[in-house]
Amino acid sequence: MKCRFWGTRGSVPVSGPQYMEFGGNTPCLQLTTQGCPEPIILDSGTGIREFGQHYMTHRTEVGDTIHLFLTHAHWDHIQGFPFFIPAYVPGVNLHIYCTKKAKDFLSGQMTAPYFPVGMDVMMASFHFHELAQGDEMQLGDVRIRWIPLPHPQESTGFRIDDGARSLVFATDTEHPAEGLNEQLVGLARNTDVLIYDAQYTPDEYEAGKQGWGHSTFHQGAEVAKASAAERLILFSHDPSHDDAACRAIETSCQEEFPNTWSARQGIQIEI
Ligand SMILES: [Zn+2]
Repeated sequence: MKCRFWGTRGSVPVSGPQYMEFGGNTPCLQLTTQGCPEPIILDSGTGIREFGQHYMTHRTEVGDTIHLFLTHAHWDHIQGFPFFIPAYVPGVNLHIYCTKKAKDFLSGQMTAPYFPVGMDVMMASFHFHELAQGDEMQLGDVRIRWIPLPHPQESTGFRIDDGARSLVFATDTEHPAEGLNEQLVGLARNTDVLIYDAQYTPDEYEAGKQGWGHSTFHQGAEVAKASAAERLILFSHDPSHDDAACRAIETSCQEEFPNTWSARQGIQIEI
């Protein structure tokens, strides 16, 4: 399994020389696995615009179908969708999976006066799948499970197993005041990769970010240890964190969980 990070930033896109290493696009991941020949995409933040351009030049190799899983409807997870070129292309089959009514919130952001055209001009074939929370499904040989994550309006954590390797995507979630999110620990049990919301440092969290729906790298390390995850990937970098701050967070977390890496935009990892 391969995972490419098209967007790593939480809350709002950023740009500038101070963000060159970790990137400025909001969340979008591409999974490539032999278990499912078609692209599996997680979230449609601004990073999906660049995935769309990449897809259009590789469509003949990967086929006409794209599977898009959405964690929740917050703007930073959907705002790239109106700029996702494959959605406008006849013949592309776009399957969209979410525990909420994705058609409503995706079309809702494409209404006047916020956007010049509506979703009705998108000519791909849309297939919306409303997921029951806590359920699972199969895509080819790939098993996908999901759980609710504590977050304003609730997010969704996904686990993807292709029979050989596994990945857990747990972004936009706040940890409990005491202890660990045991449901997440269960989802991440023995996973090869845990991608976790590490938007804040513990100091920032304690200084007034409780209740904002995000977590810390310390909690990521605790969940990784408790679930016996092999590798921890810090994700949803705060827009106030420049490259130096992201590197410092990565180093601090490695002291707690050595096999830690902070997600960098454009990088593809082998799992
Ligand atoms: Zn959110």
